[in-house]
Amino acid sequence: MTEIHIENLTKRYGKNADPAVESFSLIAESGKMTVILGPSGCGKSTVLKSIAGLISPSNGDIRFDKKSILPVRPENRSAVMMFQDHLLFPYMSVGENIGFGLKMQKRAKSEIHQLVLKMLDRVQLKGLQDRSPSELSGGQQQRVALARALIVEPDVLLLDEPLSNLDAHLRLEMRDLIRSLQHEMQITTLFVTHDQEEAVVLGDKLALMLNGNLRQFGKPEDFYNRPEDHSVAKFFGSQNFISGVNSGNCFTSSLSNLQLLPDCNRGKGTITIRPENVLIDVPTSAENNFPALLVKKTYLGTQTRLYFATESERFEVLTNPGKALLLKEGQKVQVSFPKQSLWMLT
Ligand code: ADP
Repeated sequence: MTEIHIENLTKRYGKNADPAVESFSLIAESGKMTVILGPSGCGKSTVLKSIAGLISPSNGDIRFDKKSILPVRPENRSAVMMFQDHLLFPYMSVGENIGFGLKMQKRAKSEIHQLVLKMLDRVQLKGLQDRSPSELSGGQQQRVALARALIVEPDVLLLDEPLSNLDAHLRLEMRDLIRSLQHEMQITTLFVTHDQEEAVVLGDKLALMLNGNLRQFGKPEDFYNRPEDHSVAKFFGSQNFISGVNSGNCFTSSLSNLQLLPDCNRGKGTITIRPENVLIDVPTSAENNFPALLVKKTYLGTQTRLYFATESERFEVLTNPGKALLLKEGQKVQVSFPKQSLWMLT
């Protein structure tokens, strides 16, 4: 079991280039799945490649269990990296591909054979060991790549957008397989993705990166309920930001005087509420309620997005289509921002 400490990692590609990653620090817990989430180009792969030893950081340190791995050659780090392009060896059979790492370790042929069969079973490819990779579907090839990475039982597994090239239903299947194998084998894993849903489903912990910086690190639900700043809340789909002043007893804004939970920051600031947490068509006795004009409705299939306006503010609500049908554009609706769903940003 290995804990990864990344400390103040900075990487510049070129002497005078802006840093692709800047002062990035986190601890990936032993045996857990840590997901690095962020838009394309924010520096996720740079972090992973630095751990694998494919690139050298400009600054900072990376430690496995308190020991710096920067002086260690990539092949001796016990970290295996898997990319979205699985790059199987085309002239080797599926079994030979999977057993490759063990052959490099000079393990006995019979042992390799046994371990390959066991791994084939684990990734649900039983009986396909003699096929050539070209005789497999994209999803099956990806499983071979996963099996090849896992069979050497690395201390650290690094997965760089491994599901990106798969179509929707294969993505889900592969996602579940990765999750269950990771759980079963308890390999410390860093998983990189730009997909928010994938990150939330897979991650024991999430690290959100924007523009080369770590913006928030924590449990998936914290990113919805307790986003640290405006950019985190926005990345996670909130469009509702109301500015005002929190006196402790009450948040005074142009919208209404709202009650907040006691652990919210005091003073001048911005509150946010997720669109799915706003209650609509409530009685005037409901907490934090006020009237708003329904400006527009957009049907999204499983949900409907409602656009509301007051004299001073605009906000959005997600509700079920049945409920939305009862409301008309141009209608005044009594709305509630429940206390437990309001969060003050830093
Ligand atoms: P992500 O994985 O989030 O898409 P990357 O880590 O691949 O982001 O890239 C971060 C930034 O570093 C991007 O601006 C990218 O263009 C730049 N970059 C990545 N690799 C290189 C390289 N080998 N040379 C120069 N710039 C690079």
